[in-house]
Amino acid sequence: MKMGLIGRTLGHSCSPEIHEKIFQALQMQGSSYELLETEPDKLGKRLESLQAEGYLGVNVTIPYKRDVIPFLKSVSREAEAIGAVNTIRFDEDGMHGFNTDYTGFGRALSAMGADPEGRACVVLGTGGAARAVIQYLADSGASSLLAVSRNKYDEKQCEFQTFLEGNCGKLISYDELKNEKGDILVNCTPVGMYPKVGRAAVGEEIVRRFSAVMDLIYNPKETELLRMGRVNGLKTGNGMVMLTAQAAAAEEIWLDRVIPEDVLNRIAEEMQA
Ligand code: NAP
Repeated sequence: MKMGLIGRTLGHSCSPEIHEKIFQALQMQGSSYELLETEPDKLGKRLESLQAEGYLGVNVTIPYKRDVIPFLKSVSREAEAIGAVNTIRFDEDGMHGFNTDYTGFGRALSAMGADPEGRACVVLGTGGAARAVIQYLADSGASSLLAVSRNKYDEKQCEFQTFLEGNCGKLISYDELKNEKGDILVNCTPVGMYPKVGRAAVGEEIVRRFSAVMDLIYNPKETELLRMGRVNGLKTGNGMVMLTAQAAAAEEIWLDRVIPEDVLNRIAEEMQA
């Protein structure tokens, strides 16, 4: 069975390793997950030819998570709300789009023992990952939602602000964050990612006002933000669990079967070893 990842520059992706581990765990010998670098003007044709070649489906990454939508016959509710598709399933009647960052984030939150229902949640960053996280937190009954931006007043934020307000959230600046506290803090910025480790988008005085902190970054395993969370007694979770969970969720969509929680947790642990 053939699957893969469509994007523009994919050299550093660790998705093939995660999918290979899933194939081994499910005894799917002979299955493959390939990196499929694609130029923007070839996107539609590439999708069509992958379907014709018998691929079950593909993941989609930067910069195509929005661009693929016009080629799809249907888009799941979450993907439509987020405005991004990261998983496509090829069916006889056409291509169907999903967003497994949403599902993966949810599984990662539950793996760290954090339930957003009735909780005040703060999300750092306003990019694509933040949208999936915000949609999940809103759908899960967060009591309040704040997104923090360096560029709150930039007119490019209008669309994000509309999306956020649609989920009863509010956009604030890092200065305004100094007056806030909450339960769950989620980093959706690249700050602290390898090789620029040892940095965080917020300081310890902010982190200690929360009871749980999740960082979407998966390299390093413990970012500076998570280190601050750990030493202050917060529940912590890193991005590798989310990355593994979103890969497993994509396999579930393609294979129409459930991947057991223990398989997923073991793979996430192996990926962090
Ligand atoms: P992105 O589109 O580049 O957005 C990141 C956001 O972070 C930007 O909108 C920006 O918001 C903020 N930001 C960027 N540079 C910053 C800086 N130097 N200081 C403070 N804020 C900064 O990235 P993305 O695709 O949303 O991904 C965000 C992070 O999540 C990345 O590290 C990515 O690797 C990770 N991720 C992980 C998973 C997973 O499965 N674990 C999945 C998706 C993404 P403002 O301009 O509004 O401040």
